[in-house]
Amino acid sequence: MKPQANRMQTLPPYLFARIEKMIEEKKAQGIDIISLGIGDPDRPTPDFVIDKMIEQVKNPANHQYPSSVGMLSYRTGVADWYRKKYQVDLDPQTEVVALIGSKEGIANINYCYVNPGDINLVPDPGYPVYGIGTLLAGGEPYYMPLLKENGFLPDLQAIPEEVAKKAKILWLNYPNNPTGAVATLDFFREVVAFAKEYDLLVCHDHAYSELAFDGYRPPSFLQADGAKEVGIEFNSLSKPFNMTGWRIGWAAGNKEMIETLGRYKSNVDSGAFQAVQYAGLAGLASDGSFIEKMQKVYAERRDLIIAGLNSMGWNLIAPAATFYIWAPVPKGYSSEGFAEFVLERAGVVVTPGNGYGAHGEGYFRISLTIEKDRIEEALTRMKNALGKFEF
Ligand SMILES: *Cc1c(COP(=O)(O)O)cnc(C)c1O
Repeated sequence: MKPQANRMQTLPPYLFARIEKMIEEKKAQGIDIISLGIGDPDRPTPDFVIDKMIEQVKNPANHQYPSSVGMLSYRTGVADWYRKKYQVDLDPQTEVVALIGSKEGIANINYCYVNPGDINLVPDPGYPVYGIGTLLAGGEPYYMPLLKENGFLPDLQAIPEEVAKKAKILWLNYPNNPTGAVATLDFFREVVAFAKEYDLLVCHDHAYSELAFDGYRPPSFLQADGAKEVGIEFNSLSKPFNMTGWRIGWAAGNKEMIETLGRYKSNVDSGAFQAVQYAGLAGLASDGSFIEKMQKVYAERRDLIIAGLNSMGWNLIAPAATFYIWAPVPKGYSSEGFAEFVLERAGVVVTPGNGYGAHGEGYFRISLTIEKDRIEEALTRMKNALGKFEF
């Protein structure tokens, strides 16, 4: 067979083959494995969304090709969401595009702007698609370390001048996967100024905007003055409405970037199934009570895990947002070594931090996407099998 395209060879190798194999072996032995590794909501999509889908799937008008940029009513729903939540005005005709899940747009925007050899500024650790999308488009990620001492925000001033000048896209994601960190509106204002200084396109991934706790409300990048002149924000129904399988999201903000992404999409896909857009719109237009309920569910799970880990020697502060806990591995362990140790001794899966980038080494990630009784069981097993750790 002819070899794969060079761009396929730029994809990083799958990191955790050894852990996957251990999981398979244990399952084959009949051992009960508890996974705290899955970044996918465990609860079902709410009934009011499903009911809207059932209604719309029966309408033959929805069985044809949709518009590749999304129905105007869906894009208007997104604009209404921004006005209501953030007092941000968006023109649904020109400043919003529907996406087949935000991951689709996050990958594709790279093809719209990155020429071979171009640099994108990519957070490390981070959601892998920013860097991989850059590589697939022939670009080079410049990894910005997210360090604990900086609250897991990139230090923009530490980016070398010649890199900043050459760079095309600045990728950001707050509330952050995997660190659970949050950004202030002031930080976004600095980002706008930085982007203007170096003529950068800002792509902000706001996938966890609704998963915030204890009354905290994450700001939107588009709330910063001038944000629409330099960038766009991605978001999705996936995390707030337990709709990861439905594939419906959006990008909003800068007109030119939205038009470019829409034009690219019209050539590679034909948009999201209209019935799914109607279902997504039902979520966007809903009163927020479902989201509040999920926030309480995740906050309870979060508190349980934080208390459990802290009783084993950790010293963690509960994250204000996301459904992740980002914790350092104990003294003497690598990320993978610790994950393998926990799997071997307790039958519990955690995600090694180095899967999110070189600066994730020394950390592991726990997801809050599992019911409380299983979390309690996982913590009990960890405590019995592992005892106390030193840091
Ligand atoms: C889950 C996730 C997404 C993608 O979600 P879609 O289902 O593609 O909308 C985007 N960014 C981050 C950081 C995520 O964790």
